[in-house]
Amino acid sequence: MRTVSGTNNKILEIDLTSKKFIETNVSEEDRKNYLGGKGLALKLLYDRLTPGVDPLGADNIFIVTTGVLIGTGAPNSARFSAVSKSPLTGIITHSSCGGPFGNALKTSGWDGMILKGKSVSPIFLLIDSQGVKFTDAENFSEKTTSETETHLSYFGNGSLAIGPAGENLVRFANISSGERYLGRGGLGAVLGSKNVKGITARGGECKIVPKDPETFKKYSSRGFKYIKQNYYIEKKYKMYGTLNHLSSNNNAQILPVRNFKESSSPEAEKISGEYIKETRNPGYRSCRNCSILCGHEGVFNEKLTSVPEYETTCLLGSNIGVFDIDKISEWNDICGELGLDTISAGGTLAYVMEAAEKGLLDSPLRFGKPEHIAKTLEDIAFMRGFGSEIAMGSRKLSERYGGEEFCMSVKGLELSAYDPRGSVGMGLNYAVANRGGCHLSSTIFGLEITMGLLDSESTINKATYVEFMENAIAAINSLHTCLFTIYPFILESLFLRYIPVFVLKPVLRYFPFIAKLFFDFSTYSGLFSSITGIKISGRDFLKSGKRTHILERYMNTREGVDSNGDKLPYRILNENSRKPGLNPFPLNKMLKKYYRIRKYDTNGIPMRSSLKRLGIEADGKQNRT
Ligand code: SF4
Repeated sequence: MRTVSGTNNKILEIDLTSKKFIETNVSEEDRKNYLGGKGLALKLLYDRLTPGVDPLGADNIFIVTTGVLIGTGAPNSARFSAVSKSPLTGIITHSSCGGPFGNALKTSGWDGMILKGKSVSPIFLLIDSQGVKFTDAENFSEKTTSETETHLSYFGNGSLAIGPAGENLVRFANISSGERYLGRGGLGAVLGSKNVKGITARGGECKIVPKDPETFKKYSSRGFKYIKQNYYIEKKYKMYGTLNHLSSNNNAQILPVRNFKESSSPEAEKISGEYIKETRNPGYRSCRNCSILCGHEGVFNEKLTSVPEYETTCLLGSNIGVFDIDKISEWNDICGELGLDTISAGGTLAYVMEAAEKGLLDSPLRFGKPEHIAKTLEDIAFMRGFGSEIAMGSRKLSERYGGEEFCMSVKGLELSAYDPRGSVGMGLNYAVANRGGCHLSSTIFGLEITMGLLDSESTINKATYVEFMENAIAAINSLHTCLFTIYPFILESLFLRYIPVFVLKPVLRYFPFIAKLFFDFSTYSGLFSSITGIKISGRDFLKSGKRTHILERYMNTREGVDSNGDKLPYRILNENSRKPGLNPFPLNKMLKKYYRIRKYDTNGIPMRSSLKRLGIEADGKQNRT
């Protein structure tokens, strides 16, 4: 087996139209500036994507990149990124996944792959160190994701597969990789539009070794130690998975219930992490190389299967008024097999239920009634009857049938499961998140609700923290490791570990510029430097995240995004019976400050000077400053 020191520094660039491929290399400057994962994928996309292309046309580009940690044995090191232009939102979408494909691709000798063009008929891509082979996938039409991945496992050690939803161009179709998913923004439809049913990589053809093994060992051991001793990991994620958030979010009244009409429910206990732990004797079913172990399995409907994640449980549960965990599990499995994003599926179903309740459209779907859900999910995936309209997502439906005031999406992406009316920073997060209504852009709910370090109902300094966290998350997604490492890697650093909470809280709330100095990113930067031999500091790491975030925003402005898109649904802005003092929702106040901090102009466009400072070469088309 070949030994690779650091990274392969080879990207496989595939033209599906001509069925040819080339090897592309990345300059050291880009590797330092964008790290890998999300950052590098966006840079490769920026260099190739023509603004305005049809997301489902041959000119759209689909890119997967691994991070530098894959194959090294570092903590939580199996994640990879995918980017493209989204058929659901019409802007750039990014997704991160912990399935086996990333490791297989990297150990086949490739740090990433770029797909361009379109095959005339359905195909599989079989990747190894020599490149790619194209084989016929005609017989796999409408096969489920697991059937497809099982077939691909005869060739490779990790795969990507789409289900019928991706083939049928459902706008929120996902891509599976060993029961982990590239979930949001319809990446499955992008592969479907290119006639790619699945991709696999042989893997195991090379061994990745860090350039500086001693230093790598130091940072890697530190990472494992921090994970082991962190309260949130040990007592929350390992015990209850992401469902650890359900009870606390219900108590904090930020749980989406019945299309965000309510924000808590006395029935929430029946779908909580605690209930599942007590009744389903869960084990672990996590991403590869994970030591945080938020992914669990348990017995539902007499079948051992994955425990639905927090977002799925809310969007396919409380938000459609269903508090039956067996039903939610059944629908979670259907979405996984057919290749549907559970968040957008649930958010769109909630819109349909409310629109039907108000007589805007004709559907048997009603809040709290599980009867027609399974069939509707199938109708969506196979584009049958009204399912083919639901397949467009909630924004398009509300444009057609009305009810835009209760369409709970931002920039066309359905909101995830944190109601910002009880977590004010999340309101700003949703409004400005690059891919639309995504909770993972800044994860500021962690500071507001999970750790309670910031006042969840105050706007004070929220713009500062959203910007700071967006940069951190973009860098973590580029390194690329799991976002949940942020709890141990940041909080367990010596200074923060021993500082009393009664000191920490006021400093964080009122002196963010001092507080930000407490956050130590050296575990991340140390891992990157020791593996690649490219020296970066914790500050460089954070700056790289900032560069990635701004590049993504700039790419979105080329697709027409400006301040008009940085909005929240009417319901969030104007309906807050629980806290009338926060009515209307104070978005504009935070938004103005956020633009100033981000160095966007008043239209929300990144200023030319700030792009230049970050080394982003602008094409000037939308940059009016
Ligand atoms: S903590 Fe959860 S999301 Fe993160 S790598 Fe592990 S299983 Fe995957």
